[in-house]
Amino acid sequence: MKNKNFGRRDFIRTTGLAAAGTMLGPTMLRAGVGTQLPAVLGGTPVRTKAWPVWPIWNRETDEPLVVDDLRSGVWSRASLVTQFEKEWGDFIGTRRCLTVVNGTNALITSLLQLGIGGGDEVIVPPYTFIATVAAVLATGAMPVFVDTDIATWQIDPEKIEAKITPRTRAIVPVHILGLPADMVKIMAIAKKHGLVVIEDACQAHGAEIGGRKVGSFGDAGCFSFQNSKNLAIGEGGAITSNDDAFMDKCYSYHNYGNPYGSVVGQVNAGTLIAGNKLRLTEYQAAIGIGQLKRLPGETELRNANAAYLRERISRIPGVIPYTLTPNVTKAAFHLFPFRYDRNGFKGLSRATFLKALNAEGIPCSEGYAPLNKMPYLQNAFQSKNYKKMYTAAELDIHAFNERNNCPLNDRLCNEEAVWFYQSMLLGTRADMDDIVNAIQKIHDNADKIKA
Ligand SMILES: *Cc1c(COP(=O)(O)O)cnc(C)c1O
Repeated sequence: MKNKNFGRRDFIRTTGLAAAGTMLGPTMLRAGVGTQLPAVLGGTPVRTKAWPVWPIWNRETDEPLVVDDLRSGVWSRASLVTQFEKEWGDFIGTRRCLTVVNGTNALITSLLQLGIGGGDEVIVPPYTFIATVAAVLATGAMPVFVDTDIATWQIDPEKIEAKITPRTRAIVPVHILGLPADMVKIMAIAKKHGLVVIEDACQAHGAEIGGRKVGSFGDAGCFSFQNSKNLAIGEGGAITSNDDAFMDKCYSYHNYGNPYGSVVGQVNAGTLIAGNKLRLTEYQAAIGIGQLKRLPGETELRNANAAYLRERISRIPGVIPYTLTPNVTKAAFHLFPFRYDRNGFKGLSRATFLKALNAEGIPCSEGYAPLNKMPYLQNAFQSKNYKKMYTAAELDIHAFNERNNCPLNDRLCNEEAVWFYQSMLLGTRADMDDIVNAIQKIHDNADKIKA
C-alpha cells in the first residue's frame, strides 16, 4: 500500500463501502466466531476494514516545517539538525545526541569510536534485524551470538558470561520489537568484565526501564528513523550518550574527521581522525521535529492497546504472549509478538495459521530467521580483511556455527514467532477485538483448516 494521504483516503472509502454490506460488528462476532467458515476456506473475513497507515503527518503542523526549510535553501546540516539532536537527547535523557544517516551507521560509528575493531569479539543476539550484526562485521570484529530468552524475546543475560573470552570487548544488546532487554543485568555483567555496551534501540523509541529511557543505559544508544520505525523520517539515525569525549569523536567521524564543532562548508579544518560523511539534512530534521511531538502520545496508545490485546489473546490455548523483562515501565511495541504453539491449534502449522489469519484481514508475519546461520557470515569471513585479521581456524564456518548454536532462538524463529505491526496498535479497542476474534475463529476451526 502506498503511504500517501490521498491514497489512504481512497482506500478507506472503497473498503469502507465494501465492508458495510458484508461485515458484522466485532462485538456481534465475538459470541459465535467458532461456527463461522474461516476466510481461508472461502468464508467471510472477520475484518475487511483498512488498518491505520504509517507514517502519519499533520498538514497544518508538519508540512510548514519542511516547506519553510525547502524555501530557505539551507539543506545541509545547520540549525534544524542541531535542534532535533537537542530534542532527541532531552527525550532519551542523555546530555548528548548526534544524528547520522541511519541506524546502521549509528551502530558502526559507536562501535568504531568506542575502539572496537579487528580481532575483537562483540556479543550480539541472534534475534534481531540484520543491521546489528552487519555493523559489527563492518568494524572487522567477530560477532558472538548468545541465545534468546524466548519468554522475553530478548538476549538471555544468564547466558552472556559463558561467552566472554579475553578478546570480548563489547556487548550490543538489542531492545528487539521495542521490548527492553534486561539492561540492569547486562550493565552489571559489562562492569564486572570491563566491556563497553552499545544499545541497539533502533526499535525502542521511548521504551523505559524503571522510568528511564532505553538508549541511556549503555556507553552509547543507537536509534533508527527509517520509515517503518516508531519515529519515521524516511532514513536517519541517532547516537545518544553522556560521554562527551566519545560524542566529540562521533561528531568528528560523521563530518569527515574534522574537529568537533567545525561547521558545514569549512574546508581547512585541520582534520584529526580518519572520518566518514554521515550527516543528516535539514529537511530530514524538520520531519523529525514534527514526528517527535506525536511520539509520546502514540507510545501511550500502543502500550494501552498492547496490554489489552495481550490480556485477551492469552486466554486462547496455544497463544503464549511475551513477558516483559523486570521493571519495564513502558515498551515501544515496534512489533507486537506472541508465540504460537501448534498443540493448542490441533497441530495446525504456523505457516497455515499465518495464512488463515491474514485471510481474516489481520496482517501478521513469522518475523526473523536465525541470524547466526546465514550466508553473509561466510562471505565476511572470506573477505581480504578478515583473512588478514583472523586465523583459518577462527574463520572456519562450521566451527563458528557450532560455537554460535542458539537452539531456543531456532525454535522461536522456525516454529513459534508471530508478529503484528506497530501501526495496528494505533487503532481502536474494536480493532484489537478484531485480532482476538480472528485468532479465536482460527483456533475453533483448526481441524477444518488443517484438513
Ligand atoms: C532498523 C534497525 C536497524 C538499522 O537501522 P537503519 O536506519 O535501517 O539503518 C538496526 N537495528 C535494528 C534492531 C533495527 O530494527
